[in-house]
Amino acid sequence: MDIDKRIDEMLPMLTAFRRELHEYPDLSGEEQPTCARLAEMLGRNGIEYKLMLDGTAAAASVGSAGNGKTVALRADTDALPLTEETGLPFASKKSGVMHACGHDIHTAAALGAAILLKEMEPELTGMVKIFFQPAEEGTGGAERMIAAGCLDAPHVSHVLGLHVNPAIAAGRAAFKFGKMHAASDEFTLILHGRGCHGAHPEEGCDAVAMAGQFITAIQNIASRGISPLDSAVVTVGKIEGGTKGNIIAGRVEMTGIMRSLSEETRLLLRRRLKETADGVAGLFGGRAELILRPSYGALINDDTVTKTVAAAARAAIGAENVIIKTEPTMGTEDFAYFAAARPSCFYELGCGFSDRETNFPLHSARFEADERCIRTGVKLQIRGALALLTNN
Ligand SMILES: [Zn+2]
Ligand SMILES: [Zn+2]
Repeated sequence: MDIDKRIDEMLPMLTAFRRELHEYPDLSGEEQPTCARLAEMLGRNGIEYKLMLDGTAAAASVGSAGNGKTVALRADTDALPLTEETGLPFASKKSGVMHACGHDIHTAAALGAAILLKEMEPELTGMVKIFFQPAEEGTGGAERMIAAGCLDAPHVSHVLGLHVNPAIAAGRAAFKFGKMHAASDEFTLILHGRGCHGAHPEEGCDAVAMAGQFITAIQNIASRGISPLDSAVVTVGKIEGGTKGNIIAGRVEMTGIMRSLSEETRLLLRRRLKETADGVAGLFGGRAELILRPSYGALINDDTVTKTVAAAARAAIGAENVIIKTEPTMGTEDFAYFAAARPSCFYELGCGFSDRETNFPLHSARFEADERCIRTGVKLQIRGALALLTNN
């Protein structure tokens, strides 16, 4: 089969489907309408699928595991709580909800890959599962799909995922070996002191002074606690405490995040944060109450799988359009759970307009994607899946 020709034939349908998703986006955990539309399209094309996680997720499959191994393609389907400001004719019809992270593109490309792989089924040496995953934006739909068994029966060997990037022109793609996205932990710290008159600080325990020392002290966690060649972020983004200028504050509460690029550094950040909080509170005779909320783990690509998929990409879109990134990002991505469970590859699909001076970033109310990237996305997902079925 001439894959490129078939993708070109399918492109108007896939673009229309993407625009439909864009007009009717669903927030994380509320993806039932998107999944119902996907189910209809999969069913119409004779593709087997099952709905999961209360109808917010779908897992399709083509081919037969009896013929070889099984690999998976993953698309996230959720949108963001934002009111769109693009003015596009197919802009979101749901006020306060927008596909500002391009997950509509991911979903349309994965559907295209599923339809084409179904047409290629007699030639497939193995099985390809296609995951339509909910709730990437915050609550970790990937982890729940894995817990629900999407990587088992039959056993999935590798997972391949992509994310659009408006800083890269449509038609191009970027790969990163090893560490790609950071791990994230959120925290709330409550510093308990003892309130009293502001003129007599010796009678109380000043939680505001404690907070000041704590915020200064945590700057040393990244700068002194980890290697200058590793990366970490410790941020306090919100702080509240005290009631009046002439009252010593008895309580300060702050929230923040910590980012790291390995499990080892992640554990170190957690430990040092707790030690610093307890140490500073102890100095003042107060008490620290630390609540840690672990978020996504670090996304680490498998080098062998990435090599295979990047080689397939070079063959599909030309070596001049394949970028190898050298720096990871401190942003997070819940594909990390797939990459932790199986040797996997996550890569970036350029969606920027090469003729525009400004391409608005992801999560902007003015984010737009050059839809020509759908063609590249379908091509790379199919070529990548076929390469993984025969290699590694
Ligand atoms: Zn996002
Ligand atoms: Zn995203």
